[in-house]
Amino acid sequence: MTLDKNSTPRTTLLSVEQALDYIRATLHPVPGFEQRALRDTLGRVLAADVCSPIDVPPDANSAMDGYALRAADLPQSGEAPLQLVGTALAGHPFSGNVGNGQCVRIMTGAKLPAGADAVVMQEDVRREGDVIYAGTGHRQGENVRWPGEDIATGQTVLAQGRQITPADLGLLASLGINEVKVMRRLRVAFFSTGDELRSLGETLEEGHIYDSNRYTLHGMLSRLGVEIIDMGVIRDRREDIAAAFRQGAAVADVLLTSGGVSVGDADYVKETLDTLGKVNFWKIAMKPGKPLAFGLLGDTVFFGLPGNPVSSMATFYQIVQPALHQLMGRQEQPSLRLHIPCVTPLKKSPGRADYQRGIMDYDANGQLTVRSTGPQGSHVLSSMSQANCFIVLPAESGNVEAGTVVEVQPFAGLI
Ligand code: AMP
Ligand code: MG
Repeated sequence: MTLDKNSTPRTTLLSVEQALDYIRATLHPVPGFEQRALRDTLGRVLAADVCSPIDVPPDANSAMDGYALRAADLPQSGEAPLQLVGTALAGHPFSGNVGNGQCVRIMTGAKLPAGADAVVMQEDVRREGDVIYAGTGHRQGENVRWPGEDIATGQTVLAQGRQITPADLGLLASLGINEVKVMRRLRVAFFSTGDELRSLGETLEEGHIYDSNRYTLHGMLSRLGVEIIDMGVIRDRREDIAAAFRQGAAVADVLLTSGGVSVGDADYVKETLDTLGKVNFWKIAMKPGKPLAFGLLGDTVFFGLPGNPVSSMATFYQIVQPALHQLMGRQEQPSLRLHIPCVTPLKKSPGRADYQRGIMDYDANGQLTVRSTGPQGSHVLSSMSQANCFIVLPAESGNVEAGTVVEVQPFAGLI
């Protein structure tokens, strides 16, 4: 992987789309795959196309409870008598042949007996002892599911890059596949920087706060199914920072940090990154967010997230998560966006794209609407906790009046 540090000058203000384009062009899936038992592959990414080893269904079978017969025996008018010669149940096929003038009682899912080419529903015939009377209006192939109708042998059922869902587990099981080749899990290490930060269990003294970013990061990364290496809180000291960067780069595919990337931060974070790797300090035209460091420490991809709790989450979802998907080898999927009325006014100054926190809900008329969570400061983490969507306001937008249709990005599907 190469990274041209000069192609995105440190001072450039990048749009979210520009940052994503740059990341897309720069990052490639990490090498390595493994064979895993089907049950262990939920959320994993397929390392190769999966082709069906069998036809589904494997045999012609009945779609209804009724009578399997030869379509040629059915009358042009009136009724034709057919002799009942046996029964076919799901899992218990009829071993004989259906001859001229004969039929077999058949249940849904049972294999179509040799000789038969149609199933007439039981409601459509009259039965007297071992003789049934079938009328007109039926055709060859009626109520028959043919072999390979759902999936044919050799057909690609799931493509490389697919992130396996519960339905996929069932689909693969239906093909008799019990082992799957998946990409190896991405190893992601992270730490927080800041002299003011204390870990849970420690006592807060004057000027201290608890580190929350490591917990949100832990949660967001857990959802992605990556391997997580939590390196704790690193003090704002040159040697400690340098040692942590080296250690993280040595063990992980991706190193994430939070804090220490905004203007005015101790210079040695940037200094250390300059010595150890190739890192750009971006200003992203998004709010909350803005400062983001992105680059390489050896082969390890590095993201330096802003320290403010909402900024670090918003930057993670909008920029880091798509990058991690790419490194995981996951096919790109568009994020769900809706356009719905916003029932509260929103404050915004033109310049950067806003990712305000919103609550989608149905109003009294059953119409889906969104409202603001309230104060939008980048330190107000409770806004992220209350929200179920981002309200995405384009850079050029100013204040939004109540009743305006806005774009929302639901968290469901995003996280
Ligand atoms: P920084 O980016 O280091 O200048 O931090 C910006 C703001 O975010 C400051 O108010 C920090 O105290 C706060 N902050 C930084 N890291 C964390 C963290 N891990 N958890 C909670 N707040 C943080
Ligand atoms: Mg700091």
